Amino acid sequence: MNQILDKKYNYLSNFFKTAIDQKRLFHSIILYGSNNLIQYAMALELARQLNCLENKREDCNCQNCRWIRENKHPAILTISKIDNKSDSSKTVISEEQINTILDTLVNSSDYHRVFIFCDATMKTLSNNEIKEYEEFKLTGFKPPQNSDNETFWYPTGVNTNCFSTVAANAMLKSIEEPSENVHFIFLTNNKEDLLQTIISRSQVFYMADTQNIYYNTDFFKQYFTTYPTFNKNSALDFVNTLLNFQYDNNLETTYVLDCIQYFLIKLAENNFENTRLLEILQKDIEKIQKAKNMAKAYIKEQNIYEYLSFYFIKR
Ligand SMILES: [Zn+2]
Repeated sequence: MNQILDKKYNYLSNFFKTAIDQKRLFHSIILYGSNNLIQYAMALELARQLNCLENKREDCNCQNCRWIRENKHPAILTISKIDNKSDSSKTVISEEQINTILDTLVNSSDYHRVFIFCDATMKTLSNNEIKEYEEFKLTGFKPPQNSDNETFWYPTGVNTNCFSTVAANAMLKSIEEPSENVHFIFLTNNKEDLLQTIISRSQVFYMADTQNIYYNTDFFKQYFTTYPTFNKNSALDFVNTLLNFQYDNNLETTYVLDCIQYFLIKLAENNFENTRLLEILQKDIEKIQKAKNMAKAYIKEQNIYEYLSFYFIKR
């Protein structure tokens, strides 16, 4: 695996490596989180692992690895409103794009084909985005389009608005009846931004952007000592602990939730060989993401923590 991605997303890296080796990787994959550029690197790394003709190592120099690193592999296509598009519609991933994909799938190929769906623009980068780009460069991959003076290709998450209804329906068919050696990877900010029918047919992975932030896990970890079992009698305590910690330290609800999510991600990293536990962890990590969305929608912290607490007891 790629060292940068491996370090930052250790459990995901391991999970993907094992899934590819055992040919258990779903045909449709959703990567979600706030940093779409690092998701893009992860998608390319998956494409590389799937297509490598030799040892899959980061420095492998086989033709497929070289082409993917250069982002010019004929079977690895970025699909956005500005990439791999021949028609003139500017706003959505078009029906024509999807049909072109479906047409290419009719022919068999020696390559493992990967279609990476995102939204994208050519833009001037903010300071934060420049940092993201520096990290992206370290992964060794190139963007699908070169920078042009001051503007850079920059991906954002796809959402339901990116697909025309016809395009979405055409694509759903091929996700339902996937051809062998074809993968669709969707990059998005929130899982809920995609059609439910796509979500239900996909493996969904949260990619936290944890750079340079310290997450405190001490204040709640006593409630997770019997994880994945959650003690019913401590549910109320759990809610109060989160509330008190938040108020005493004058914190945002999303930070408290980030701390719990971080804790669960670390737990997943240390247990990546335990498939059953990983499944539960992934669901829980998703649930925290949902709670974060609730916080962004100004739902009261107490209600959010009760919602989580209730979920942990019932699941
Ligand atoms: Zn290779």
